[in-house]
Amino acid sequence: MHEMSIAMAVVAQVEEAAGAGGAHAVTSVRLQVGELAGVVPDALAFCFELACAGTALEGAELVTEPVPARARCRSCTGDWAVGMPPQLVCPGCGKATDVELLAGRELQILSVHWEDGPGPGCDRVRTPAPTPTPAREPISEER
Ligand SMILES: [Zn+2]
Repeated sequence: MHEMSIAMAVVAQVEEAAGAGGAHAVTSVRLQVGELAGVVPDALAFCFELACAGTALEGAELVTEPVPARARCRSCTGDWAVGMPPQLVCPGCGKATDVELLAGRELQILSVHWEDGPGPGCDRVRTPAPTPTPAREPISEER
């Protein structure tokens, strides 16, 4: 089952990030799912629950964010919503040969919500791969 392997991959990735961050229990995971990713959200939610059993993610909520598919035509540079079933013929010039998919295949973790340890008020939001903040140059106070 397609959704099961995705769910298991997501759980493995979140577990790794949560483990590295010293998470106590993962409460929710936000996942970006493109319209053309071939994922049925209900099936994924079901598989996610199964994949979470016995891990730090047990009981975690899966929040899916759908991404509408868009395509662009290189012949006339028009772009359109692909929709479902996908329309991959340019509505502008009728060509399907120079069509490029701009969005819709996304399948990535946006953020993970977890608790650091027992006790209230420990809820934090972190991304699995945080972008490093640029080091700031110390401001000299010379005048
Ligand atoms: Zn076109």
